[in-house]
Amino acid sequence: MKIETSTGFDTVCIRGGHVTEGHRAHLTPIYASSTYVFESAEQAISVFKGDEKGYVYSRWGNPTITEAEEKIALLEAYKLTNSNGTPLQLKAILHASGMAAVTTMLLGNIKYGQKLITHQSLYGGTHELIEKILPGLGIQSIIVDFHDINKVEDALKADGNIGLMYLETPANPTLQCIDLEALSSLGKSYGLTVCVDNTFATPYLQQPFRYDVDYVMHSTTKFLNGHGTAIGGVVIGRDIEKMEGPMTKTHRLLGGNSNPFDAFLLTNGLKTFGIRMERHCSNAAKVAAFLEQHPAVGTVNYLGLASHPDHATAMRQMKNGGAMMSFELKDGFDAGVSFINKLKMCTNAVSLGTCDTLVSHAPSTTHMGVDRQQRLAFGITDGLIRMSVGMENVEDIISDLDQAMK
Ligand SMILES: *Cc1c(COP(=O)(O)O)cnc(C)c1O
Repeated sequence: MKIETSTGFDTVCIRGGHVTEGHRAHLTPIYASSTYVFESAEQAISVFKGDEKGYVYSRWGNPTITEAEEKIALLEAYKLTNSNGTPLQLKAILHASGMAAVTTMLLGNIKYGQKLITHQSLYGGTHELIEKILPGLGIQSIIVDFHDINKVEDALKADGNIGLMYLETPANPTLQCIDLEALSSLGKSYGLTVCVDNTFATPYLQQPFRYDVDYVMHSTTKFLNGHGTAIGGVVIGRDIEKMEGPMTKTHRLLGGNSNPFDAFLLTNGLKTFGIRMERHCSNAAKVAAFLEQHPAVGTVNYLGLASHPDHATAMRQMKNGGAMMSFELKDGFDAGVSFINKLKMCTNAVSLGTCDTLVSHAPSTTHMGVDRQQRLAFGITDGLIRMSVGMENVEDIISDLDQAMK
């Protein structure tokens, strides 16, 4: 179906990017084929020259993968326009994981001797990539408090080698938000490539391309897949020529391609994405309200609550408070451990964005290796529980949390 500017979000989720193929299958099959057959030597020549579009080899492209890519590009561009009023076109490239997507995005846009500027509260894997791998390739990072726009500008003035700005909002696990509009506009005014990790918010809640950023990436493992069935990542870009040229080249040579089975699972998950997010978010708002008044709970970090320090920023750039939260059990580390053990329904697991509610105790898991003083400085207190609110009946989620805090 042709997607018009009037097409609704859920319709795009269900129909966007689908092309009917040869055998009249309703759903795009899992094209488990590494290579593609040419009808003649002449056809091979014209495909290789780029005169004729066509699949060649599945690291380069695969019909099952294409459908997921097109759906995600349509969702990130949903109802956005270029400055001249025409609908925004985006191109997405699917990857084996969120980390593969970050790698392609960074290595495709920054070179030896250049620097990137970013902030403290990045996803752990991204932080480690920047700290442990990029310096060996001659790419240094400057870490600044992105809540303070003047500090960011001072850093940009002080160093002419900064080529890329990397943003992630909201961030794990305290849901800190940074101002996409202000940071992107500052970055662009200094000629930087601006990249955003939109995994936590998803295009349902937040569309960074509204603020002229160059790239958005996702770990599709989370809300986009939505069922916890596959690892995946995607890079989406607005410069189509660059995406089809150098970025596609970088992707193919780094080899972080997705595979048809995971892409099929992703496409299937995306069909219910809009509806899932509605339920995730309405459940989360109710769970946050319950936790906020509970005597065993201290701070509740949820962007929909006026008490969150970044509530105003979040409400400006996000549709609502989302489905992620964290909260502090007043009685500390042991209370956190005991709470996790007493849960009868909610799942004790890291990751996020699945139909099932996922709960984890940050200090004894994801932040186990972080020095306690440093962790406390980031707001990760001893009793901090992170929760990805699922789609179960909200009464069941609340009663499980309640009994585990007794
Ligand atoms: C999970 C995650 C990643 C990494 O994605 P993988 O699919 O695990 O490689 C990157 N950024 C954020 C915000 C994430 O939550």
